[in-house]
Amino acid sequence: MQGKRPPARAVRKVSCEECYFRVNLLCALELSEPCSTFRPNDAQLKPPQQLRFVFRQERRTRAAWAFPSAQEQAALHA
Ligand code: SF4
Repeated sequence: MQGKRPPARAVRKVSCEECYFRVNLLCALELSEPCSTFRPNDAQLKPPQQLRFVFRQERRTRAAWAFPSAQEQAALHA
């Protein structure tokens, strides 16, 4: 049957004690439950690895556009 959802995985309940911000004394909130900025302390908030620049080796040899030459202008208006 289409449209039927797969069974949801059990979501572990988290607490502020496991939060990166609480562990590193960066949280000033006094909430009864974890907020939406919860980050697990294990993750250490490492940013994802950046993509590397790869420079093209070939160079453009011709301009994309150039003014017509005098001969081409003369031919246009002849
Ligand atoms: S940032 Fe949110 S989840 Fe983390 S410790 Fe503070 S209140 Fe809890």
